[in-house]
Amino acid sequence: MIAIDEEGLRSSRFAEAKRKSCVFEYVYLARPDTSLAGRSVYESRVEMGRRLAREHPVEADMVMPTPESGTPAAIGYAEESGIPYGSGLVKNAYVGRTFIAPNQTIRQLGIRLKLNPLREVIRGKRIVVVDDSIVRGNTQRALVRMLREAGAAEIHVRISSPPVRWPCFYGIDFASRAELIATGLNPEEIRAILGSDSLGYISEKSMVEATNQPADNLCTACFSGVYPIPLESEPRRGKDVLELEFPPAVEPPRPGSPVDIDNVPISAGSGGADAVRRP
Ligand code: SF4
Repeated sequence: MIAIDEEGLRSSRFAEAKRKSCVFEYVYLARPDTSLAGRSVYESRVEMGRRLAREHPVEADMVMPTPESGTPAAIGYAEESGIPYGSGLVKNAYVGRTFIAPNQTIRQLGIRLKLNPLREVIRGKRIVVVDDSIVRGNTQRALVRMLREAGAAEIHVRISSPPVRWPCFYGIDFASRAELIATGLNPEEIRAILGSDSLGYISEKSMVEATNQPADNLCTACFSGVYPIPLESEPRRGKDVLELEFPPAVEPPRPGSPVDIDNVPISAGSGGADAVRRP
């Protein structure tokens, strides 16, 4: 904590630091050309792909990524399995990341707009499609359908993170549990919804090991349900649980107290008033 007041600047430690880095940064969020805690994000993703190939092998003719976030893991899967790597989809660079798009319709449309299949590459092939994660399942459902329409003989979906079953309360917009496709469904049921011939998720252990970080230094809550900070009771659980429920109370101005041009007391917000009282 840093305090700046009439005595100058002071800093003090008010709690013990306990590192819990987001494992999803290694899986999807971080740019692949960065490194986190000394570990290359790109290398972590390739290693996740290698481990995924060992955990969920399949006979196929081509490994392809979901562009572009699945690319490093697909490279790792191809390398480990010996199945040639190819690219069966072209990405439209003008459509944004879909899992943070505002509503279901726009998300569904967004996926169709952003990926186009290369029929000449796909037709008649047994294909392994590697993606980094399944959140709501929209991308993968649309993808499997597009690949079937383009003539794929078999489609095997491989995911370089475990099923996302829990919301994130630390800033990632995973919404509520009800929106996550893995809530209440096992991988075989998810496979049936996606319409693929098989589905394989990497294990949590392999995902964590691929980051080269001690497991205790990582948050894995959206996969494991083990949160680094104790949660509110169940009814209040949602992605907004850590956000302010009500705006800060504004007290009516007392006679003679300082007000701004809108007649709002200068120390109106409860946080602001507290800061003025106890600098
Ligand atoms: S729950 Fe934890 S691991 Fe999952 S996205 Fe949020 S911070 Fe990352």
